Amino acid sequence: MKKHNFDIAVFDGDGIGPEIMQCTLQLLDHVCRDCNTFSLSYNSLPAGAAHYEKTGESLPQVSLDAARASNAILLSAMGLPHIRKPDGTEIVPQIDLRMELDLFAGVRPVFTFPGLQVLSDERAAQLDFVLIRESIEGLFAHKDEGVVSNNEEATETLRITRKVSEQLFDFSFRLAQSRAKRLNRPGKLMCIDKANVFRSFWFFREIFYERAAAFPDIETSAMYVDAAAMKMVQSPWDFDVMVTENMFGDILSDLGAGIMGSLGLAPSADIGADNAVFQPCHGSAPDIAGQGIANPAAMILSAAMMLEYLGDNNGCDEAVKCGERLRDAVTRAIAVESGRGRDIGGSANTGLIARTVQDYL
Ligand code: ATP
Repeated sequence: MKKHNFDIAVFDGDGIGPEIMQCTLQLLDHVCRDCNTFSLSYNSLPAGAAHYEKTGESLPQVSLDAARASNAILLSAMGLPHIRKPDGTEIVPQIDLRMELDLFAGVRPVFTFPGLQVLSDERAAQLDFVLIRESIEGLFAHKDEGVVSNNEEATETLRITRKVSEQLFDFSFRLAQSRAKRLNRPGKLMCIDKANVFRSFWFFREIFYERAAAFPDIETSAMYVDAAAMKMVQSPWDFDVMVTENMFGDILSDLGAGIMGSLGLAPSADIGADNAVFQPCHGSAPDIAGQGIANPAAMILSAAMMLEYLGDNNGCDEAVKCGERLRDAVTRAIAVESGRGRDIGGSANTGLIARTVQDYL
């Protein structure tokens, strides 16, 4: 008898979404096939831009309810540029999910893979940081309420609350502590903001330092977002754990993916008190959809983060180990020709990359 049966809500979404999700589920089944203490079951749920075009609904209530009741949510990519709401904005149920489920912490690990030659081997070995993007407020808090007056003026509102900021910083400090333990080095956390210009960011920074008092083992610092962007390009190996507002995090996480070599390699997790979504940093890549050439690595690495999350939160070491095995297999696959997609200078298609990962499991 398996001790845990984890119910996974699956959104395979739009564009390349179904292509990268299908092979990821096969790899999850493969890596977990001999596990004694847990099993996974999948619940495929409709949502996304194509679904909106068909039904007028981007995130049906039944999908939201099933996602809320699940142990974890696996999401590929949603949104298509040619399908928009009457006000001109894109269909983004992945953002609605974050808001509905209070997934306040967007975790974006940035690291490199041996042999990719984005950096020298020595620098690549040093590069390993995590960007935590606040994901339910900031400039996205009122995303459907922006006002354009008389075609002359547009206004959006940025919102920072004490409650969400405290949750975000406490989560970030704990993540800095667990990394410090795993990497056997002192923990560090940096607040990225624009506190020199905006009162809201001064408030954000003040709460950061207030919460720091509860984590005296973590070294704290703060940096303005413009300086952080420059430093991420000049010396990204100097960062450890960074925490920032939603919009700044949106932009810096794509910069992080660029440092890794491609959006197709960058995984992410959006974590709240009761739910978590695991999805690649990239979008639905409509320019390459249906051709079978999308790189599934970011999706597979996001699934590996999901296994680690399920294991950590349920005292299931076997799930954590499966997550580590999946990540190691992706790392080994990227080092060989048959594991390298076109986005990183190789020629392997989605199926071949997935088979190569499976060979290393
Ligand atoms: P969003 O705003 O929804 O995040 P986006 O506008 O940033 O999306 P993406 O869909 O992420 O755009 O695509 C950006 C570029 O990266 C495109 O050229 C796309 O083909 C490429 N790309 C994204 N994901 C992958 C992938 N998994 N494999 C290969 N190329 C990808």
